Amino acid sequence: MRRLWLIGLLLVATIETARAQDRLNVVASFSILGDFVKSVGGERVDVTTLVGPDGDVHVYAPAPADARKIADAKLLVINGLGLEGWLPRLLQASGGKAPIVTATNGIAPLKLGSDADPHAWQSVANAKKYVTNIRDALVAADPADAEVFRKQTEAYLAKLDALDREVRDAIKQIPQARRKVISTHDAFGYFAAAYGIAFIAPLGVSTESEASARDIAGIIAQIKAAKIPAVFLEKISDPRLMRRISAESGARIGGTLYSDSLTDEKGDAPTYIDMVRHNIKALTSALAN
Ligand SMILES: [Zn+2]
Repeated sequence: MRRLWLIGLLLVATIETARAQDRLNVVASFSILGDFVKSVGGERVDVTTLVGPDGDVHVYAPAPADARKIADAKLLVINGLGLEGWLPRLLQASGGKAPIVTATNGIAPLKLGSDADPHAWQSVANAKKYVTNIRDALVAADPADAEVFRKQTEAYLAKLDALDREVRDAIKQIPQARRKVISTHDAFGYFAAAYGIAFIAPLGVSTESEASARDIAGIIAQIKAAKIPAVFLEKISDPRLMRRISAESGARIGGTLYSDSLTDEKGDAPTYIDMVRHNIKALTSALAN
């Protein structure tokens, strides 16, 4: 009996190893794409992300290990719209031949200054487009698992539809006149366009350096003039400045908004759905009456 049990265990272990070996090896450029690939591919894919949780995909400096990851990949998933400026050199260095899918294919880009705004995932409708693009690429790379990918995509798209309704319902609770925040992020253009919250850049503040006392006076005047209920100023790290803005303008200081990366498992936003939920909670609690 005991021996039978052992044989059974060995068999399971062997099958598991075989499965791991024929899992499709997919590399995603950053954490949000990695989460989409996991949601579509599930157990049938091994996903590696180049820019991991809490990383900055805009200014990433690839390591030699990244070239090896790409060389081993069967599929590479990128955002496009100019987000991964560091990628062409890395691709060349890797010598990888894997097909590349641009997850924003078919999405009409907004503008950020004179360039395309790459942050298209911040609208859930766009996220659905990412997911179907990823599904089609996984099906092409691994036709044997097509049915699994299609089923998992259907289930995930239903979750995204529910998430989109959740965001719209939450924003309905905010009085129309209060649907505006000051934010140093330039990452919420698609969110603003989809859901009707205005993200207003603080006047005269460089995103490169710490705000000066004069910048702060300018922000306070701007908040009062435009009756802005809340500020999300993540690039101002001095809490005394934040308290001064709040005390003198009457605006609420919002919490963290996640834009370009997920957190690790212990954080507030380990998945895309968690990230959107976290952001909408931060926005509604800052903007509520
Ligand atoms: Zn960004």
